[in-house]
Amino acid sequence: MKDIAKKSNTMYLLEKYQLQAAKKFGQNFLIDLNTIKKIVETTHIDKQTCVIEIGPGIGALSEQLSYHAGHVLCYEIDTRLEDVLKESLGEFKNIEIIFQDFLTVPLKETVERLKQDYQNICIVANLPYYITTDILEHILTSGAALSSIHAMVQKEVALKLTDPNYHSPLTFMIESVGDIHLDMMVSKNVFSPAPRVDSAIIGIHIDKTYNPLLTGILKQSFQQKRKTIYNNLKNVFHDQTKDVLQKCQIIEQKRPEELTIDDYLKLTQFL
Ligand code: SAM
Repeated sequence: MKDIAKKSNTMYLLEKYQLQAAKKFGQNFLIDLNTIKKIVETTHIDKQTCVIEIGPGIGALSEQLSYHAGHVLCYEIDTRLEDVLKESLGEFKNIEIIFQDFLTVPLKETVERLKQDYQNICIVANLPYYITTDILEHILTSGAALSSIHAMVQKEVALKLTDPNYHSPLTFMIESVGDIHLDMMVSKNVFSPAPRVDSAIIGIHIDKTYNPLLTGILKQSFQQKRKTIYNNLKNVFHDQTKDVLQKCQIIEQKRPEELTIDDYLKLTQFL
């Protein structure tokens, strides 16, 4: 089907398949073609690129991605969407749909396989908001050789993640592999059903390999955000904690969000 996001097409599909958006899967479908085209423009994908899309829904974004990308590999958790996706995307030969929870996808191996045929692999997703952080962490900690991630998230989340003064395990993970930009604001009115808040597209450009030791050290350091880094890391380095912090030139009274990514990378060398 051409222009799935046109209101008449979306309504036809939703009615024909008696589809009620499932809250438990964070389903808010994009229903504005112009917005989708603008989102695709921000990704700068081309025919040498394979896009991995998380949650195609009824296929509105997938369709527009397929015009620009070499291949679009979609992971959808909701098997109720099988018939509707057959009708909406069946004619697009460069779209492949796998019904699987994205959090269980072995991303590193998948990307390695796709890299045999495509120069760049990037992720594009209108993310289900209930697991935004889990999905972004799953992608980043997989160590997959991706070029970029383009994700629609809640506006407040986008503003936090792109604020240089805000630090969390996720922002440190992002900083360790590349940089993040706020690419576009998206009104809540272009979704059906409309979410409570506006959204935004963030773009993460990746040019470094993820250090897998970072995951554990960040989780431990932020276990109790209000405590000092010394107190949080006592569980990791035990009676060596003072010594390790000194060798890394980290002041032990600092809170976990006051450290820098270089501090955390130094700490991984003592694990
Ligand atoms: N891409 C569509 C669009 O823009 O209209 C739908 C976006 S909707 C916000 C999120 C989509 O992600 C839904 O289709 C939902 O079923 C799917 N989803 C939710 N959790 C998922 C998971 N763990 N793995 C894969 N897909 C998931």
